[in-house]
Amino acid sequence: MNILVINCGSSSLKFQLIDAETEELTARGLCERIGISGSRITFFPGDGEKVVREVSMPDHKTAIQLVLDALTDEGTGVLADLGQIGAVGHRIVHGGEAFAQATVITPAVKEAIRACSDLAPLHNPANLTGVEACEALMPGVPMVAVFDTAFHQTMPEEAYLYAIPYRYYEKYKIRRYGFHGTSHDYVSHRAAALLGRSYEELKLIVCHLGNGASVSAVRNGKCVDTSMGMTPLEGLIMGTRSGDLDPAVIQFIADKEDKSIGEIMSILNKESGVLGISGGLSSDFRDLENGSLEGERALHAFALRTAKYIGAYAAAMNGVDAICFTAGVGENSASVRGMICNSYLGYLGITLDEEANQKRGCETIITTPESLTKVLVIPTNEELAIARQTYALVRQA
Ligand code: ADP
Repeated sequence: MNILVINCGSSSLKFQLIDAETEELTARGLCERIGISGSRITFFPGDGEKVVREVSMPDHKTAIQLVLDALTDEGTGVLADLGQIGAVGHRIVHGGEAFAQATVITPAVKEAIRACSDLAPLHNPANLTGVEACEALMPGVPMVAVFDTAFHQTMPEEAYLYAIPYRYYEKYKIRRYGFHGTSHDYVSHRAAALLGRSYEELKLIVCHLGNGASVSAVRNGKCVDTSMGMTPLEGLIMGTRSGDLDPAVIQFIADKEDKSIGEIMSILNKESGVLGISGGLSSDFRDLENGSLEGERALHAFALRTAKYIGAYAAAMNGVDAICFTAGVGENSASVRGMICNSYLGYLGITLDEEANQKRGCETIITTPESLTKVLVIPTNEELAIARQTYALVRQA
C-alpha cells in the first residue's frame, strides 16, 4: 500500500510517498511559499531527475492538488492514478492530552485537534488545513493523524507539571508536553534493535539535535521526561530558540527596551539560540564550526546545555544504558558529539571510538567496546515512522 505522508506548515508543505510493505521511498517533494508570491513545487520522483515548477499556490488545497498532479504526471509521475494511494498520514504538532497515539481522523478528531490550537497557534491550524485539503481532493481515502506530542504522554506528572499554581494546569492545561515525539519514538526503538536488547529493559537518552532540538529520557519503553515544554521554546539551546531562561529576563528586556511580551517571544524564538549567542553569525552549525570565536562560544554553550540535560536524565532514570544522537547536528557533527561526550560524560564511563565517530549517515555505535555507557548515532526518519503508524491503523480497519 502506498502511504502519502504530509507535513503541512503555514506556508510550506513537505510530502513523501512511501510503499508501506517494502518501506521504500517512491517520491518526495516540497511546496514553498503557499499563499505568498513566488510559490513553487519541487518534486523528486524516485530515482528520477528533480522537477521544479514555479506555479501560483494561493492556498493549501491548490498545493495538495499540485502534489497529486506531480505524483500522477504521465511523464515524470510515479503513480498511474490516485486510487493507488491507500492512506494519508499527517504530521500534527500538538495533540495536547487528548492523543497518546496516532489515530484515524474523524470529525471528532479534527475538533480535538482544533481545540489544541491554543497550545500551538502557528502549527495546528496549518496542519488541519492540510488534512481538509486532502479530504476534499481524496474522498474516501483514510486520513491518519500522527502527533509530535503523543510519545511524551507517558511522562509522569512530576515530570510534566510546572511549579506554578496548580489551577493553571486544571484551567488551561498548562504543562510540559514535549515535541519531536515521532523522532524520539523511532530512534529509541532503533537503538534497542542496534544494541540487540529488549526495548522494555533499557534506559535510553535520545538527543534530537537539529535546528529545533530536544532530549528525552526513555525508561523501559516509555518516555519519562523530555526537554521541550508546553511549546518548543523550552530546554536546549537551539538554532534560533533560547531554550531554558529565567522568566525574569522577559520583564527586564520589556522594561529596558519598551517591548511587548509578543515582541520578546519573537526574539526568544527567532533571534536567540546559537544565532543569538554567536552575535548573529549563524543558526547553522556548519557555519559555527568555522573556527571563529563567536562560533566557538555558541558551540560550547550548546554542548554544555545538552550535557546538563543528559546528566539530569541519567539521574532521573537512576542510570543510562545508551545515549543516542540524531537529526541534522546529531547525525552529522562529529565535533559537537565529541565536545559533549569528551568534555562532560566521562563520569558515565564513556569512551568514544574517534574513528567510528567520524562516520556519517548510518546507524553506528560510536563508543569503544569497553565503554560502560554506549553512544549511538541513529539517523531519524520521521516520515517513515508516520507511514508505519498510518499503515498499522489502516490495515486494522
Ligand atoms: P530541522 O528539521 O529542525 O529543521 P534538521 O534536523 O534538518 O533540522 O537539522 C538542520 C541543522 O543540522 C542545520 O541547521 C545544521 O545546523 C545542521 N547540520 C546539517 N548538516 C551538518 C553538518 N554536516 N555538520 C554540522 N551541522 C550540520
